[in-house]
Amino acid sequence: MKTSRKLMQNGGITIPKDMRLKLGWKRGMSLDISTMPDGTLIIRKHIDLCRFCGSAQNLCRYKDLIMCHSCADTMKGALS
Ligand SMILES: [Zn+2]
Repeated sequence: MKTSRKLMQNGGITIPKDMRLKLGWKRGMSLDISTMPDGTLIIRKHIDLCRFCGSAQNLCRYKDLIMCHSCADTMKGALS
């Protein structure tokens, strides 16, 4: 699926409804936006990642900090 859109004055774009429906994207949901070295912009449904290593596996949360259990164990060892 491919289409073209003009960038709005505030930097926004409208993602076509058929693409949003296909992806299951709903109003107000969080999206992750990243750029690739070749200039490609990637927009994906938000997933939580460990703040320290970037893993998406075995996550835990302490207040606003999200980390994986491995990094949490490393931190616990460093503090004891
Ligand atoms: Zn981690």
